[in-house]
Amino acid sequence: MILVLMGPPGAGKGTQAARLAADMSIPQVSTGDLLREARRDGSDIGKRAAGYMDAGTLVPDDLVIALIERRLEQGDCKPGAILDGFPRTVAQAIQLDDMLERGQRQVGAVVSIMVNEDEIVERILGRLTCGQCGAVFHRLIKPPAVAGQCDVCEGGVSSRSDDNEDAIRTRLQTYTNQTAPVLDYYAGAGRLEKVDGTGGMDDVFERIQDALSVA
Ligand code: ADP
Ligand code: ZN
Repeated sequence: MILVLMGPPGAGKGTQAARLAADMSIPQVSTGDLLREARRDGSDIGKRAAGYMDAGTLVPDDLVIALIERRLEQGDCKPGAILDGFPRTVAQAIQLDDMLERGQRQVGAVVSIMVNEDEIVERILGRLTCGQCGAVFHRLIKPPAVAGQCDVCEGGVSSRSDDNEDAIRTRLQTYTNQTAPVLDYYAGAGRLEKVDGTGGMDDVFERIQDALSVA
């Protein structure tokens, strides 16, 4: 089962993808996390991606596709994967379909989490991310048990370098211009399920499960 989780930045994609992955016992594959990991490792892809990420614009398709293809070939993705943050352009969606078709697989379902823009900015400005494992917290809604420290791995938590208001606005614009058309791509193929992303994390998770049970 290859499941695509979509939604604007700050919609709660990462949180819900992690829960779905645990629930379905398949890995969460986040291109944002893969890219941040590549940056930490100082790899060539990481170096080339850094400037785009900090500005809030998209990393070029070929870099992201190389990362995702390599990741999906790993053994733990055999039974399936939850794709989080990919595809983000129609070109990526087409290449994903091609890539999966070569392995006799396909996208099983696409869930889009819908949240309005003001709520998104508020959520992202309060967001804290673990620099070591990528776990996500929020200053007000979900603070770590020990200030500044990750509940999962005890790494340091801080604001991501692209979680400032300018970069957030750019990311929202990028979403509207480049990623929203991906929703039309999947809707046209009858593969899209839309889910209300407001309210508590448990409510959203239930809505996603309901949407998937009818998909
Ligand atoms: P958010 O959902 O809050 O925008 P992500 O962790 O998903 O955060 O992505 C962070 C940044 O990584 C993006 O702004 C973009 O620069 C880059 N990125 C992630 N996924 C992709 C992708 N599929 N294509 C291009 N760039 C990507
Ligand atoms: Zn951590």
